[in-house]
Amino acid sequence: STSFALLFQDWRRKRAIARIPPRPIEIRSDEIVNGVIGLIGNTPLIRINSLSDALGVEILGKAEYLNPGGSVKDRVALKIIEDAEAQGVLHPNTGSVLFEGTVGSTGISLATVGKAKGYECCIIMPDDVAIEKVQVLEKLGAKVERVRPASIVDEKQNLARKRALEFGNTPLIDPPKSDPEVVVSTKADSSEVGHEVNSSEPLIPSIRLPELLKPALETKPRGFFADQFENESNFYAHYKGTGPEILRQTSGNLDAFVSGAGTGGTVAGTGMFLKKALPDLKIVLSDPEGSGLYNKVKFNVMFDTKEREGTKRRHQVDTVVEGIGINRITQNFALGLDVIDDAYRISDAEAVAMSRYLVVHDGLYLGSSSACNLVACVRLAKTLGRGSRIATILCDSGSRHQSKFWSDEYLKANDIPIDPSIIGRLLES
Ligand code: PMP
Repeated sequence: STSFALLFQDWRRKRAIARIPPRPIEIRSDEIVNGVIGLIGNTPLIRINSLSDALGVEILGKAEYLNPGGSVKDRVALKIIEDAEAQGVLHPNTGSVLFEGTVGSTGISLATVGKAKGYECCIIMPDDVAIEKVQVLEKLGAKVERVRPASIVDEKQNLARKRALEFGNTPLIDPPKSDPEVVVSTKADSSEVGHEVNSSEPLIPSIRLPELLKPALETKPRGFFADQFENESNFYAHYKGTGPEILRQTSGNLDAFVSGAGTGGTVAGTGMFLKKALPDLKIVLSDPEGSGLYNKVKFNVMFDTKEREGTKRRHQVDTVVEGIGINRITQNFALGLDVIDDAYRISDAEAVAMSRYLVVHDGLYLGSSSACNLVACVRLAKTLGRGSRIATILCDSGSRHQSKFWSDEYLKANDIPIDPSIIGRLLES
C-alpha cells in the first residue's frame, strides 16, 4: 500500500506539471552576449537598504564588481585597448604584449580583456598587495613581476613603461579623441601633473606614426604601455560609460556622486559627465587616510597626512584600503579636479566597520574601496535633506581582499580595529 501511495503521489506531481499552461516566449536573439567583453558595463544600481532606511536618504551603489573581471577596471582596460586599436598601434593576435603597473584590479581586467581579444599581458605589482590578486593574474596567463611598494617613486609604473619600451612600445599617435565639451581643469599645478619627477625613464613622446610604418605594425609583435594613470582613455571609459549609465538609471533624480580616486578616472570621468548633465549635483571624493587628495580638494595643497616612516605597513599610501588614495595628481584626476566639490577622509577602522556592517545587514560582501565610498556616503547624507539620493561605486568584491582587508588576523597584527558598531553610531549621530 505504501508503494501504491508513492506511485499515486508521483502521478499527481506529473499531472500538476502537465497542467501548467504553456506560455508564449518571445524569442530574442539580442539576449546573447558577445563573449566576455559583452559582459562589461551596464552594471545594476543597487539600493543599499540598511543605510538608506536608517538615513532616510537613498544610497545607491553601482555594482561594478559584477563586471566579468570583477571590478570597475574592466571598462578602463577595454577602452584603453580599443582606443589603441583604433589608432592602429595595437593589433590582436600578433603576439603583442600589454604592460601595466597596478595594485591588481587593472591587471586582472587587462588580462581578461587581453585574452579575449588576442593579447598577452605583463603586470608589475608592488609586493605587498593581497596575494589572491597575483594568483588570479597567473591563472589568467599574465606574467607578473613584483617590485618594492612605491614610496616616492612609483616603481611599478616606471618598470612597466621600461618593459614596454624594451618590447618595442608603440606610443599613442594622438591622445584619445577629445570631446570638445569637456572642460579641462586648471586647478592642478602643472608641476604636480604627470609622471614622477624623479623618474629616470623618458616619458613616452606623443608622436604621429608615419603612414609607411603602419603596415609593418599590423604583423609585428609590439609592447604597449597601458599607462592607466595618464592615459585619458581611462577618463573617457567613465565619461562615456559609467556617467551616462548612472544618469539613465536614476532618471537624473540624483543629488550627489561619491567616489574614491586611484588613477582618478572614475571620479573625474563620471563626475564630469554627471555635473554637466545635473549642474546642482555634488561630487564628493572619499579618500583614505594617508592619501594627499583630500588636502588637494579641501585646501589646494598636496601633502601626505600620515607618518609613513617606521610603520609596519608599507604601501604607496599607508592604508589597508587598496586601489584608492595617492600622493600625486595624475592626468586623469586633473581632468576632473574642477568638478569635485568636497572630500571626506576615511579611516581604515571606518572602512573595515562598514564592510562588516554591510555583510550582516545587506548580504553585501565588498572590497575596501567600496566600503570607503559608503562611509563617505553616510557622512554626506547627514548634510543633505531626507529624501535625497546619493550614488557611488561598488568597485570590487571582498573576495579580492581576503588576505588583508578581510583578514581579522592581518588587521589585528596591524592594529586596525574591527568594530561594526562604528557604523551604527555614525548612522545615529
Ligand atoms: N577601487 C579599486 C578596487 C581599484 O582597483 C581602483 C583602481 N585603482 C579604484 C577603486 C579607483 O578607481 P580609479 O583608478 O578610477 O580612481
